[in-house]
Amino acid sequence: DAFNDDECDYLFKAVLIGDSGVGKSNLLSRFSRNEFRLDSKPTIGVEFAYKNIRVGDKLIKAQIWDTAGQERFRAITSSYYRGALGAMLVYDLTRRATFDNLRKWLEELRRFANTDMVIVLVGNKSDLVDKREVEEKEGRNLAEKEGLCFMETSALENVNVEEAYLEMVTKIFEITS
Ligand code: GDP
Ligand code: MG
Repeated sequence: DAFNDDECDYLFKAVLIGDSGVGKSNLLSRFSRNEFRLDSKPTIGVEFAYKNIRVGDKLIKAQIWDTAGQERFRAITSSYYRGALGAMLVYDLTRRATFDNLRKWLEELRRFANTDMVIVLVGNKSDLVDKREVEEKEGRNLAEKEGLCFMETSALENVNVEEAYLEMVTKIFEITS
């Protein structure tokens, strides 16, 4: 839900979802702390991070939730989605299976999430040009068909990460205001 905060005009909750290893935690740490980790550690302790984002003359506090590795067991519960106005649905463009699984993630979103949730489809690891298994236009086509925003990112090289979050938050702001 959007509500007022001391310094901010709005607080938006958004969630990161997608298969294990696609780069969700790094997309969050890159955005919130400008950090990247080469090793893959399931998130320990950190449930969410905050980041203030300016949209026009409004200051929005984005509260972004990361999984603690539950996605491995397909055990993300409805409470994870509760109150979320946005979702970043991430696949790894070097692993086609993570793209094929988007269908399942979209089903889950439709089951648990608000119908007007803003969903940004993110194809991550665009820096791995030689390992690409999913073409950009495939991601774009799926997004168009499902009515999602779309972006290819690299958490490693910090490409389009800020843009993806900004797009999500701006869209949420347009819908809720
Ligand atoms: P999560 O399981 O979805 O949270 O994925 P992680 O953020 O833990 O990342 C999984 C692995 O992919 C780690 O080894 C990361 O270093 C790596 N990784 C994440 N994002 C990128 C990226 O943009 N490019 C490359 N080359 N590797 C990435
Ligand atoms: Mg993670």
